[in-house]
Amino acid sequence: MGNLGIYFIFLIPPMILGFVIQHRLKTTVARQMQVQVANGMTGEQVARMILDHNGLSGVPVNQAPGGPLSDHYDPRARTVNLSPGVYDGNAVASVAIAAHEVGHAIQHEKAYGPFRVRSTMFPAVAFASQTWMLLLLAGVFLQIAGLAQVAIVLFAVVVLFQLVTLPVEFDASKRAKVQLHSLGLVAGGEEQGVSKVLSAAAMTYVAGALAALSQLAYFALMFLGNRN
Ligand SMILES: [Zn+2]
Repeated sequence: MGNLGIYFIFLIPPMILGFVIQHRLKTTVARQMQVQVANGMTGEQVARMILDHNGLSGVPVNQAPGGPLSDHYDPRARTVNLSPGVYDGNAVASVAIAAHEVGHAIQHEKAYGPFRVRSTMFPAVAFASQTWMLLLLAGVFLQIAGLAQVAIVLFAVVVLFQLVTLPVEFDASKRAKVQLHSLGLVAGGEEQGVSKVLSAAAMTYVAGALAALSQLAYFALMFLGNRN
């Protein structure tokens, strides 16, 4: 089998899977954005309440200028940042996403292991993700095997980061559901909607990690194997 065949096997199926799962997240969020929570609370109010109940009154909840799904917790600034539809929205999806981001703030506060590992890795990963492709291309065009090998090691660091991200994301969603339930912020049927949104989001991280692993395997096969 030629290089092109191997390329298609390792890179195209994960890419298609990624598109399907991304699409599923968008439709799931869109559907749960149409369902309003019975208590009428917005994402911002829910985030604020969970933070306050966990001794995190000092963590601000900001409305972030980004588009849908740009919601995130900023560990450097210690801020929860919600997109407008989540911040002001009182839909099941708004509440689910807001609670998930607060889950990261709680992980930070409790020094949750994988969260700490992820934060520690971050500077190295930022460097690696900016340089690996350049080194790989340089290695291929200048025919310097050592450069390509260094590039693959750097890419492996990026892949490892994506794997460490998985428990961090799963745990943030678990904490979100526990908090929403124990503070009585969601009713029975709403909990199902929350689960759907958080599961769909988790699947995008799984698909991303699978795609990255597959790409790493492809590079290893191309550049580290027997090249006779
Ligand atoms: Zn998250």
